Amino acid sequence: MPIGGGEAALIRRYFHALTAQRDGVELGVGDDAALLDADTGDRLAACCDTLVADVHFPADIPPEALGHRVLAVNLSDLAAVGARPAWTLLSVTLPEKDPAWLERFSEGFKTLADRYGVALVGGDTTHGPVAVSVTALGWVSDSMGLRRSGARPGDGIWVTGTLGDAARGLELWQGRTGETVSGDPAYLVGRLFRPEPRLAVGQALLGTATAAIDISDGLAADLARVLEESGVGATLSLPALPRSPAFMAEGGTLRHALHGGDDYELCLTVPPSREAEMARLSERLVTPLTRIGTVEETPGLRGEDADGAVSALDPEGYDHFAERA
Ligand SMILES: [Mg+2]
Repeated sequence: MPIGGGEAALIRRYFHALTAQRDGVELGVGDDAALLDADTGDRLAACCDTLVADVHFPADIPPEALGHRVLAVNLSDLAAVGARPAWTLLSVTLPEKDPAWLERFSEGFKTLADRYGVALVGGDTTHGPVAVSVTALGWVSDSMGLRRSGARPGDGIWVTGTLGDAARGLELWQGRTGETVSGDPAYLVGRLFRPEPRLAVGQALLGTATAAIDISDGLAADLARVLEESGVGATLSLPALPRSPAFMAEGGTLRHALHGGDDYELCLTVPPSREAEMARLSERLVTPLTRIGTVEETPGLRGEDADGAVSALDPEGYDHFAERA
């Protein structure tokens, strides 16, 4: 059910021509569906993700952060298949029309969309508890793309950036005493609210990485999906998991790094013959790339600690790893 009082006017005010304009949009925001000139040769990548208040984000998230985040999580899915983002559709559910909220929300959405040249071409607005949903479309210039099913024994397991920041950030946000946070906590909350999709890494590793996934539910849970789809197992080097200085300063634990969701980093598997390229790529893209383990034939996920002791890791994550460093 549309928000009353002129949905068309609301769309015109906040979303028409909001983002970068792109060639190939034959019919954009405001009609029943977008008509996009499908280029030839490349593969069209499409994904959709919905965020619901108090389920996927704290209800007191700043609106501009939510605008950023709902687009970022979708662009992260495109990054995980090596796609170049092109178009997006946005659905917003609000209890009531709130111009100030929409102004801030759309600003956050626009800023990220502009950074990657993504055009908003359609969507919907309805009444209800706060929820936002985005569909994203992009192009993959490789017939295979990156997928979850290609990991092979011997491949190295790599991650972008650092792990656990968003999970620790959420705890700090929820436990704060004032209106805002600053310093290291603000960095960690920023990682939760404004994840940066690793689009350049995904595109650069087309044809190099054997498998990829973006980390939305936690490293262990998402890597386990790759292992299962690929019919392999893995051992992670627990001390190798990359952790930010702010995370270390603010009480981040191994449990956050292994099982904390919402970082939207990429986890990739790379054959040994291509490992030498990773350092150069990291430098060129100014993005940390860290080797954190090895794909093995034996199914299941294991962790090796600093003393060389190996134990099984539960992909879903329980507190029995909380004490391990
Ligand atoms: Mg994903």
